[in-house]
Amino acid sequence: MDYESLLEEAYENVTAVELCERFEVLGVKGHHEGVRTVITNFLQVAACIRRPAAHLMKFLSKELASSAEVSRDRLILSRKLSSKVVNKKIEKYVNLFVLCSNCKKPDTELNESGGKMYLRCLACGNKVEVHKI
Ligand SMILES: [Zn+2]
Repeated sequence: MDYESLLEEAYENVTAVELCERFEVLGVKGHHEGVRTVITNFLQVAACIRRPAAHLMKFLSKELASSAEVSRDRLILSRKLSSKVVNKKIEKYVNLFVLCSNCKKPDTELNESGGKMYLRCLACGNKVEVHKI
């Protein structure tokens, strides 16, 4: 299976595992396997902040300077990282790509148009350009 279809699959899983009715930033659960870090509740974390797992994974991979892959509902990072470090990056992601910079509500959506990425707030209508990962 190629990389793209793996991402597709990860994305579909998120919809299948709609575990959160309300917005919530969950702490990661996981363990170390040798030098790797395995986050076991990754799809749930992504579902609860209502973002595609593939997008969050890409962000974490870049921020943590680690290669990353999603396998079933787990995220596997190629470095040994504490959950505290991973949680900090998820908070950063939420601030950048989920919460509205104007009203601070999480009722937002990411849209791509004209090669740019926008965060649009469904609560107050605010729309800002965000960095593409
Ligand atoms: Zn807003």
